[in-house]
Amino acid sequence: MDWNGVFATRMSRMKASEIRELLKLLDQPEIISFAGGIPDPALFPAEAFRAAYDEALTADPGTALQYSVSEGYRPLREWIAGEMARIGVPCAAENILITSGSQQALDYLGKLMLSPGDTALVGWPTYLGALGAFNAYEPVYARLDPAGNRPAEDIRAEAEAHGGAVKFAYLSVDFANPTGQTTDRAARERLIDLAETLDIAIIEDAAYQSLRYDGEAIPPILALEIARRGDIEACRTLYCGSFSKTLAPGLRVGWICGARDVIGRLVLMKQAADLHSSTINQMVVDRVARTVFAPHVERLRATYKARRDHMLAALAREMPEGVSWTRPEGGMFVWVTLPAQMDGADLLAASLKTEKVAFVPGRAFYADGSNGNAIRLSFSSTDEAKIDEGIARLGRAIARG
Ligand code: PMP
Repeated sequence: MDWNGVFATRMSRMKASEIRELLKLLDQPEIISFAGGIPDPALFPAEAFRAAYDEALTADPGTALQYSVSEGYRPLREWIAGEMARIGVPCAAENILITSGSQQALDYLGKLMLSPGDTALVGWPTYLGALGAFNAYEPVYARLDPAGNRPAEDIRAEAEAHGGAVKFAYLSVDFANPTGQTTDRAARERLIDLAETLDIAIIEDAAYQSLRYDGEAIPPILALEIARRGDIEACRTLYCGSFSKTLAPGLRVGWICGARDVIGRLVLMKQAADLHSSTINQMVVDRVARTVFAPHVERLRATYKARRDHMLAALAREMPEGVSWTRPEGGMFVWVTLPAQMDGADLLAASLKTEKVAFVPGRAFYADGSNGNAIRLSFSSTDEAKIDEGIARLGRAIARG
């Protein structure tokens, strides 16, 4: 069978990356990997989850194991609405849709807004999973200046040249994946201005927002927009939250917070796609969130902060001339810029072979595959001794060129 003859055009945009192939080698025990960007499994609140599953299955197995509503488990939506209010986003449970991880939120938002040829504004670099989600809807990508300074006219002209309309700007303002960088308050305000001028939506990906290690918290874009407009129902920002980095990614529980009009449309989409996210997982996340969330996140912050500090100190010690890196205030990533002529993918191939150290080459995070001379390091799931050793190995691999 010639499957290509029956595949939809969108499949041409959905390719396995070479990097994924390379990263399959990571199973070897002698490799020190900074590639993952995943939570440290030793920090999962496993005991709290065991108790919560036990309770859900004992007290209410009929609900826990049954189909449930597409919007999500109401007590959890209420708890999330309370948390959103705490960070400057007053809203109701009706403003929250539970999704199967925030990855599903990105897929739904792409499906909601992008017709083939429309333009999505994304960072250069940006989260590669967002590109993966949006690619299926066959968009054109244009460059979003995270400082909010690119003129609207310029962006509109670029989109029209591709025969589509600009539909949304996608970004993470806190400790972005892959750069670790934070968007300051003035730039957040300028991004709202830009979205208003272009009359487009903003997708605010807050996957790492709770993991701040120092500096003052800055209100989310959605909070700043509510401060302008007085009411979430008048806002164009769609906020994507997740329990993956705070509780556990294996549960697949995330959410979208936004105006009811949009949530209503997304509920229809969820009905069509998977009916609802796992009932029992939503129930246990609700129980665990209400009992251990705040102290648990405190503990994560302390551990990851120490690892970040350790990685920054090791980079200062070990990196040769001509290498620079970001100093994230939170999250899981440091973005390293290599000497100008050096390619991150070539460096990975060499580093795996000679030094047994892994990371993600930067090119994967660019919509146009440009800018090969950067790499992403994650400090979240490597202990301090391995960070020292791994960064020393990386320094040697770079020095060798
Ligand atoms: N957004 C960003 C920026 C991420 O880094 C990730 C996970 N790596 C996600 C969204 C998706 O996470 P999840 O689906 O587990 O919520």
